[in-house]
Amino acid sequence: MSIKENLAQVRKQIPDNVTLIAVSKTKPIEALQEAYDNGQRVFGENKAQEMRDKHEVLPKDIQWHFIGHLQENKIKYIIPYVSMIHSVDSFKLLKEINKYAAKHDRIVDCLCEMDISHEDTKFGMSYEELEQMLGNEEFKSLTNIRICGLMGIGSITDDREQTRKEFRNLKQMFDNCKQTFFSQNAYFEHISMGMSGDYDIAIQEGSTFVRVGSKIFGERDYSKK
Ligand SMILES: *Cc1c(COP(=O)(O)O)cnc(C)c1O
Repeated sequence: MSIKENLAQVRKQIPDNVTLIAVSKTKPIEALQEAYDNGQRVFGENKAQEMRDKHEVLPKDIQWHFIGHLQENKIKYIIPYVSMIHSVDSFKLLKEINKYAAKHDRIVDCLCEMDISHEDTKFGMSYEELEQMLGNEEFKSLTNIRICGLMGIGSITDDREQTRKEFRNLKQMFDNCKQTFFSQNAYFEHISMGMSGDYDIAIQEGSTFVRVGSKIFGERDYSKK
């Protein structure tokens, strides 16, 4: 199936209140352009330089969402144009993002990545770490970032009930966090969860951003450079 057909099929399954992020990591410019030509405007990448290179050559009305682990020395590659960073996994990183955002005179929208799978290979904060960060006086002084919600990556598993449990847990953390820290802030409204294999469950459990890669662009090939 073509990117156009894949996109049409995925879109049919996504309600209006959920935003589809086309995860284009490792895919060539032509693939992104094809998705763009079929109306896609929101793209997700997980490597800072790759995102910068794609941003430089593709249309400027694309919204770029950064979804990978972000190293502090790479923040500079994405700060001028990124529309949301989904993967804030430490207070230290958030402070650095704030610093660069201030330099560029921007307010950068961020999500906090929560550790919902407890797999060693994944990043993310515990709820306790999140609470400590949001309750910290220094957090309140960060005026060039905005925390717009939470993000999570489910376990790699065929057990859909396990995945559902993890997503439900993320929704619960979102609700608690909203009530405790953001009850007056309308912009704290997003839950980024769900990928090609589980976005249907994620939507049922309250996702507002689904990050779908292989189901749109086909399997990724990491063997060639
Ligand atoms: C690669 C990636 C996705 C998309 O994965 P697919 O299974 O191809 O849909 C979503 N979220 C993150 C954080 C990713 O790194």
